[in-house]
Amino acid sequence: MVQDVNLPEMTQLWQQTLNWQPDALQQRQFQLLYELLVSANQHLNLTRITTPIDFWEKHLWDSIRAVTLLLNSPAITNPSPMGVIDIGTGAGFPGLPIALAFPHWHITLLDSTRKKVAFIETLLPQLEIDNATPLTGRAEELGQQPQHRQTYDIALLRAVAPASVGAEYSLPLLKVGGLAILYRGKWTDEETLALNPVVKKLGAKIESVERFTTPVTNSQRSCLYLRKVATTPAEFPRPIGVPAQNPLV
Ligand code: SAH
Repeated sequence: MVQDVNLPEMTQLWQQTLNWQPDALQQRQFQLLYELLVSANQHLNLTRITTPIDFWEKHLWDSIRAVTLLLNSPAITNPSPMGVIDIGTGAGFPGLPIALAFPHWHITLLDSTRKKVAFIETLLPQLEIDNATPLTGRAEELGQQPQHRQTYDIALLRAVAPASVGAEYSLPLLKVGGLAILYRGKWTDEETLALNPVVKKLGAKIESVERFTTPVTNSQRSCLYLRKVATTPAEFPRPIGVPAQNPLV
């Protein structure tokens, strides 16, 4: 059977759920991204998400949702271009859809696996993306490098590590005033309580927790927004591997 490779446009669903919708160019870029990912997936094993509707919901909608709500909220008062880092981007999520949706932002796509970054490097010219920089490296090393430490406005993490580990990866990279967005599945108030002291140690506070369901399969998701309010102590992030082996409490 020939697989249907056309992405659904979902214009109304985009509009209803996010008060945003892709223009014709963005729609074509999403389609091409999908085709390139499916074709590379046959030999690179990049993602388990391969049907058009799954790709739309879990890779496009889910990636972009976390930042559109932010744009529509009064909390955003700074209209200048955002410097964004997607930590553990894998095949480019959530960073690539965000680069396509917000061409005036700049997105650094970081992953420790060279093979995945090499794949993203091949995608960028084909998608005509010029506002993204792929980078091979570990969050723990970047966080201690002066050219990266405390330089980003927004840090994104999806499916990379538990929240406390994600906080240690992301917060050192942010400017004071910047925002870490942790994409999570289900999230409880107990988890918020447990995360509080960790975030405080790193110079941030939990600004909000949003719980929602995805629009096609009604899956539960949450987003944690961590606001950096002070300089992160120099000891964080700890050396490579330590945050994951011995998470902060
Ligand atoms: N964010 C993507 C991929 C998740 S898989 C998505 O949601 O689809 C997790 C990825 O994080 C892997 O590609 C892995 O190589 C990367 N990763 C894990 N720990 C990392 C670290 N400390 N620094 C950079 N990348 C890391």
